Amino acid sequence: MPNFAIMSFFKTAGKPFIIAGPCSAESREQVMETAAALKDLPVQLFRGGVWKPRTRPGSFEGNGVDALDWLKEAKQAYGTKITIEVAEPHHVELALQYGVDAVWLGARTTVNPFQVQRIADALKGNILPVLVKNPVNPDVDLWEGAIERIHRAGIVDVAAIHRGFSIYDAGAVYRNSPNWPVPIELKRRRPELSIICDPSHITGRRNMVAELAQKAMDLGFDGLMIETHPDPEKAWSDAAQQITPAALTELLQHLVIRHEFTADMGKSTELEYLRQLMDSIDAEVIDLLARRMELSERIGAVKKDSNITAYQPERWRDIVASRGEHGERQMLSKEFIVALYQMIHDESIRRQLEILRNATKPVKD
Ligand code: PEP
Ligand code: MN
Repeated sequence: MPNFAIMSFFKTAGKPFIIAGPCSAESREQVMETAAALKDLPVQLFRGGVWKPRTRPGSFEGNGVDALDWLKEAKQAYGTKITIEVAEPHHVELALQYGVDAVWLGARTTVNPFQVQRIADALKGNILPVLVKNPVNPDVDLWEGAIERIHRAGIVDVAAIHRGFSIYDAGAVYRNSPNWPVPIELKRRRPELSIICDPSHITGRRNMVAELAQKAMDLGFDGLMIETHPDPEKAWSDAAQQITPAALTELLQHLVIRHEFTADMGKSTELEYLRQLMDSIDAEVIDLLARRMELSERIGAVKKDSNITAYQPERWRDIVASRGEHGERQMLSKEFIVALYQMIHDESIRRQLEILRNATKPVKD
């Protein structure tokens, strides 16, 4: 497994790694004005889209090398590091030529292993930090695979960006569903990988960006990518989700940063104590589940002898109703208990079917 422990570019001790700037670099004035407004904020990378992957033809597709000139000028004027999206090998060459400090792969690139490989090949032999946005579909293997391709090209500084997943639902709250278990699974697999959240593309609405940014901090994300534009309503792309530099300033001031560990001895002792209690409860839960499955198998043996079906809708209805009510008395939501019992019941039925099919199955008593 590649060693991610030495990554450093995307690490900021105890503070979130912030990427901000417009969706698209629209004009020299817009780039310079935004960069000037962000220069005193704790922003590690200034973003600006140079080539834009648009859903439909005929929309603004970016200013290309002109935009690279403006970003380079902003970097020289304000000392801000700059980042752009690359979707083609020649974008990588131009990024290197113009002194771009980091590049990101967009969601529509990550989804395509051929294209990711072409970009990885163009990166070979260069030192350039790379951010990999999640693919448009919630596939953690595809996301991790893209990260691996970049890493195998010799890029040491690799980070991930969670920008949500495409959904077909006109009434949806989010533009791209956050589907948190996917980035959480990526972090479980690669604890050393910085994962940055992009609340702009997740929400698609500027009035929800701050709330989602806080949620990402509460979940332990390592940073944020936030689209920032001096006049968001007039933006040439993603106008509904960009926020002003003033709104970004306020957002960053109010952001509550949480840490994975606490230096407070009292609190860490309390946490340790509560976790030990939880560990012993979990051990009991698992032991009880094992006993429950044992009973299922005994029931299965009786069903086999009596030649009756493993699945009995009446019994399942009873379980849903009684366990749901019991849960509610214990302040556990019905949805949660029913979902949990669905899994337990599935396993129980699977075991009973095995017994019905097998001629002999040892049954404990
Ligand atoms: C962007 O960052 O402007 C962009 C196009 O992102 P995504 O790949 O997440 O759609
Ligand atoms: Mn955008």
